[in-house]
Amino acid sequence: MIYLDYSATTPVSYDVLESYNKATRDYMGNANSIHSLGVKSKALYTSAVKQICDLFNIENDELVITSGATESNNMALKGVAMQYKNRGNHIIVSKLEHPSIYKICEFLETQGFEISYVNNDSDGLIDFEDLKNLVRPTTILVSICAVNSELGIRQPLKTIRQIIKKENPNTIFHSDMTQAIGKVPVNMYDVDLASMSGHKIFGPKGIGFLYKSNKINIVPLIHGSGKYNDLRSGTPMLPLVVALSKALRIAVTDLESKENHVAKLNQMICNKLMEYPNIVINSTKYSIPHVLNISLMNIRPETFLHALEEEEVYVSTNTACSSGDFSSSVMAVTNDKLRASTTIRISLSYVTTFEEIEKFLNIFDIKYNELLEVMS
Ligand code: PMP
Repeated sequence: MIYLDYSATTPVSYDVLESYNKATRDYMGNANSIHSLGVKSKALYTSAVKQICDLFNIENDELVITSGATESNNMALKGVAMQYKNRGNHIIVSKLEHPSIYKICEFLETQGFEISYVNNDSDGLIDFEDLKNLVRPTTILVSICAVNSELGIRQPLKTIRQIIKKENPNTIFHSDMTQAIGKVPVNMYDVDLASMSGHKIFGPKGIGFLYKSNKINIVPLIHGSGKYNDLRSGTPMLPLVVALSKALRIAVTDLESKENHVAKLNQMICNKLMEYPNIVINSTKYSIPHVLNISLMNIRPETFLHALEEEEVYVSTNTACSSGDFSSSVMAVTNDKLRASTTIRISLSYVTTFEEIEKFLNIFDIKYNELLEVMS
């Protein structure tokens, strides 16, 4: 198998699974219980949370454990909207967000909030002037992803924060960091809120976090006993948190050398794909090397995906996360419906090898030419 869909999800790494298993086996107590089994579990939970916080230089009470980025995004956007609705009803998002952000915005519109979509340039970079003009006294929140999931476009969060806060210091800045953490360095001081999912970084599915600066408040999505965390009640998910902590510690180690390796793989693919006259590369100079988005133009992407799958090569079309028949992110960057409706995303990891890419390019060539022949 050649797996090139690491932006959709990753396998759980051996060490992560080991820590999950150990926590499940040896720590059965509810961390909320006051007897010794609970105290033992609570101690492990607290230390796993602290390890995560230390990686990002944040305080323990700034970390909210969630089931993943969809929940974190909901908690951030709805939580801010409910908390600060008396200050204003205006929210700004980019045109390069994950569908979960747009679905939350649609819901918030039904609750009386007004959503603006900030423009980007033809390389996907946020239009700073447009952002500046959109921020108003009633803007309570701006949400812009750190790295876009389909084209890998990375935004300069620090600059964006400065623009927002200069226009309105009360506007809260959230960033969906799901595709950034473990691939490029991130700085929680650039934002007030940040979302992530463990399964993108070789951790288990069903665990993630929301960073929430302790300078702001949000209304909880999930109410309950609030014993461990007021913002997310329920029995602490000890084995999952231990596994998340392990996955994060591995993920943020040697980021630069891992990224350099991925950049070489990306270059190898680009060099080859440029030889095909009808294939267009959509990823831009702001894309991280882990995500390579291309358009096949005259071939249906689903057909090509399944053709590759026959050889156990796995990539994705835009449809893994989006519901429409074209990629809204590719549309926002290229303004070309054909390009946006024929996309294939090849997503790489530091564990991807040169041999895998070599094999992938051979299979790609065979399958692509076969399909061209069928069509002619
Ligand atoms: N945001 C981004 C940028 C993502 O890539 C994803 C996963 N594709 C999500 C949010 C949602 O993550 P999850 O499905 O783990 O909740």
